[in-house]
Amino acid sequence: MRDRARAVRALAAEGVAHELRVLALRLDASTPTAKCVTFQRLHDWLRTLPGEHDIRREVSRLCARHGIDEVSICRELCMSWDELRALSAEPLVSIGAHSVSHCNLAKQTEETARLEIAESRARIETELQRPVRHMAYPYGDRAAASQREFVLAAANGYKTAVTTRPGMIFAESADHLTALSRVSLNGHYQDARVLPVLTSGAATAMWNGFRRIDAA
Ligand SMILES: [Zn+2]
Repeated sequence: MRDRARAVRALAAEGVAHELRVLALRLDASTPTAKCVTFQRLHDWLRTLPGEHDIRREVSRLCARHGIDEVSICRELCMSWDELRALSAEPLVSIGAHSVSHCNLAKQTEETARLEIAESRARIETELQRPVRHMAYPYGDRAAASQREFVLAAANGYKTAVTTRPGMIFAESADHLTALSRVSLNGHYQDARVLPVLTSGAATAMWNGFRRIDAA
């Protein structure tokens, strides 16, 4: 009896604590720096959710709650097929694939991952009437793309595919063309003074302990 009472008390405390946590979560967005921190927190939290549908549901909930019109933002920021056709006509431009739904491929079943990789390519080829030979894995880190995805991309006929694993391209990379490393210019070190260091390969050599290929 005493055990049961203790269990109920513990449960109640847990429930309240949970509720408090949910109610108390206010993220600061009053300055550009605070916005970046908040963005990163939300981003990291969204990436822990099990699937793409969960991520979209939570993003939609947040938008609805804060009066953000996500549809019009997408319409404004994403290029139309007509705009992409004009861009792809430029001789120095190649358009690559990035999956259909921007899902974490490694978290999908093999069949879904295969479809994401194949259908994105087929759709762009149909719309733009030119071959798609290159792909970038969504997110692209170790948790989102590894051996299985590298093999699927190669089997689907991609000539190259890039991860976001930090690294340079070496002659040996020719044996791992669907597992290429990258130097990401993603805002974290987007300072012109740092670029020569990044593009020299010094930073990624240190990061990788001077290992040249990271394709496992
Ligand atoms: Zn992406």
